[in-house]
Amino acid sequence: MFTLTTEHPEPSPQGIHIVAKPIGPACNLNCTYCFYLEKHSLYGAGEDYRMPDAVLSTFIRRYIEAQPTPVVEFVWQGGEPTLLGVDFFRRVVELQRPFAGRKTITNSLQTNGTLLDDAWCRFLKQHQFMVGISLDGPREVHDRYRRDRQGKGTFDEVIGGLKLLQKHGVEYNVMASVARETARQPLEVYRFFKEQGVEFIQFVPIIERHPDTDERNIGLSLAGPATLDREEPNTEVPPWTVLPEEYGDFLIAIYEEWVHHDVGTTFVMNFEWALNAWIGNPSPVCIHARQCGRSLVIEHNGDLFACDHYVYPEYRLGNIMADDLAQMVDKSLQCGFGTSKETSLPSRCRECEVLAACQGGCPKHRFACTVQGEPGLHYLCAGYRKFFRHIRKYLRAMTTLLEHGLPVSYVMQAVKGPLVIDLEKHAGVPRR
Ligand code: SF4
Ligand code: SF4
Repeated sequence: MFTLTTEHPEPSPQGIHIVAKPIGPACNLNCTYCFYLEKHSLYGAGEDYRMPDAVLSTFIRRYIEAQPTPVVEFVWQGGEPTLLGVDFFRRVVELQRPFAGRKTITNSLQTNGTLLDDAWCRFLKQHQFMVGISLDGPREVHDRYRRDRQGKGTFDEVIGGLKLLQKHGVEYNVMASVARETARQPLEVYRFFKEQGVEFIQFVPIIERHPDTDERNIGLSLAGPATLDREEPNTEVPPWTVLPEEYGDFLIAIYEEWVHHDVGTTFVMNFEWALNAWIGNPSPVCIHARQCGRSLVIEHNGDLFACDHYVYPEYRLGNIMADDLAQMVDKSLQCGFGTSKETSLPSRCRECEVLAACQGGCPKHRFACTVQGEPGLHYLCAGYRKFFRHIRKYLRAMTTLLEHGLPVSYVMQAVKGPLVIDLEKHAGVPRR
């Protein structure tokens, strides 16, 4: 199963996960909804965002050595990491090589796809990089928000990158951001991906809100994380932020199409996570996990932060060149950041019938209030609740199939009738 995700994948028990930003927020595009571009304001003018070799080699060595698990997963993200050129990643592989006998090392690269060429794809294939490519849907959907610095849509360049990945047999998935207008075209988006031969898709809701005065004063145009324990003074969202119920309807429309036609051939990560939660496994992604804190971010200069969504001075944990990695992880877990995801849940969440699947969502976006006026509710609550409630009947049927060792894809036959799994009919079929 493909695991690359913009939400942080949860590491194996007791492992840590670090997303690397080897070129900081630098990017060749200027997407309307990007929350990372404005991190430039944290570093000031003249900053060279290329990760120095000393930082790169120290990070690779210490990350591998600190990992108690046999598998070490590197995720390279930005900004746009392909701006560094293939040679930077040749150096990455070279620095990882001495550890290869002792650990299994994997690499994932998140890219906007516009700079990929044959040389890149040959390298990615040769070294088994898993690639996440950002593509929001058909041209009119994608070009609405994903534009270059001249304001021109990037659809043609990204499709070119996707075709090259396919031509070279590079493992990839599509990361599709769901902004406000996108959410109104669920089937156009989903069917487009299938027409392009995409098998692995992850939908990421776009949620931002306007900054307060202090944030504006340090040059930010988007608000930082919600405070959780008190009502947010500012809950105004920009026009590209998806509307809560529309996000739920978007997922439901696609789920209906998928559960009737595509189970076992198209993998929508959001649906895989829901099934995973339903059968009682820990969430493979942080947003629907009980706690945060084990998925850190390393910036180009070696600074570590508690999370990709918490790259703000107050969440800086230290620097890889000067501080102990294990201590920085402990700090992330113990400073309240990790556990507060669970301890700060409003009573509406604690009593919620879909809490096991939702877990209240990402704390950064818990800036809404319950009807009783309790703070700390996730902005998307209405959408999450609607979606998880809608798919319960399907999850129940899939769980029955799994419990009897039958392929989940049999659910496609069951949905044609009263959604009853006929185990006798399937007796004697090959088990998976
Ligand atoms: S705050 Fe927690 S849930 Fe949100 S992105 Fe970070 S680690 Fe994930
Ligand atoms: S659906 Fe809403 S109330 Fe339920 S756990 Fe998620 S955010 Fe909380």
